[in-house]
Amino acid sequence: MEPRCDLHTHTYYSDGTLAPQALLARAAAQGLQVLALTDHDTTDGLAEAAAAAAQAGLRFIPGVEISVTWRGQTLHVVGLGIDPRCDALARGLERLCLARHARAREIGERLRRRHRIHGAYEAVQARAKRVLSRTHFAQFLVGQGHASGMREAFQYYLSRGAPAYVPGEWAALEEAVGWIRAAGGTAVLAHPARYPLPASTLRTLVAEFKECGGEAIEVISGSHPPKANQSFAAFAAKHGLLASVGSDYHGPEKPWVELGRLPALPAGCTPVWERWTGAGKVTGFSSCLGPRP
Ligand code: AMP
Ligand code: MN
Ligand code: MN
Ligand code: MN
Repeated sequence: MEPRCDLHTHTYYSDGTLAPQALLARAAAQGLQVLALTDHDTTDGLAEAAAAAAQAGLRFIPGVEISVTWRGQTLHVVGLGIDPRCDALARGLERLCLARHARAREIGERLRRRHRIHGAYEAVQARAKRVLSRTHFAQFLVGQGHASGMREAFQYYLSRGAPAYVPGEWAALEEAVGWIRAAGGTAVLAHPARYPLPASTLRTLVAEFKECGGEAIEVISGSHPPKANQSFAAFAAKHGLLASVGSDYHGPEKPWVELGRLPALPAGCTPVWERWTGAGKVTGFSSCLGPRP
């Protein structure tokens, strides 16, 4: 039987709402056996999550979701099985967190100038940990009654084309993949169905991703429409990519899907977790993150 895996989740160390302990407890309660924590641009939650996983009896994969700018488009690359002590990775993520702070200040300015909404940056800084995200601004806007829900907050204020949208200055694709590989990890192109790219551009992206060392793609994502699963299974097989599965869980609130509800990988895919669960596979990262269950 395939292990029940979720290789893409968030905590309050980036823009999720749960603490690592609560995430792991919930994952265990939902019947998951393998869980990766992949917070945006930070590894701050990994040690707590590893300890919680050992307690909950789950196999833990330390991860990260790195923000990338590629041809003017924001992409996400997940790193799985990373060693967070790697210098190149730590320095790269520090740079992205600083860029997030500068962007957040500018988003706050735009909300003030264009919408007469005051104090957004300060409120976000007070609420968030190291990673300042548009999600925190959306939560502030909903909390203050400027939007009826997260979807509306993004649509009216924060999404590309909206008045307070500020593009991020993220890592280059080869940088993100390079940091993940330097940290001993596997690079996964996250939620490919979400990028507004024509098929030919997506093929170019995948070719470049593989050229710089990318190895896997999310075939099943909680943020994909269900019909994308089959087509990305075929896509992964055709392009020789390992297949990953991730809910992109951010917490029990809307609009995220619950942990443990994803469909199985379609036949014909090679699961990325064979890296960690296959016979004789040994990885170095667990030594710094507590014992494996
Ligand atoms: P950032 O990395 O700061 O640009 O924020 C991107 C994050 O915002 C994503 O990781 C999602 O968690 C969240 N997000 C983006 N669009 C939406 C939306 N329409 N509704 C709710 N959350 C969103
Ligand atoms: Mn997010
Ligand atoms: Mn993402
Ligand atoms: Mn994510």
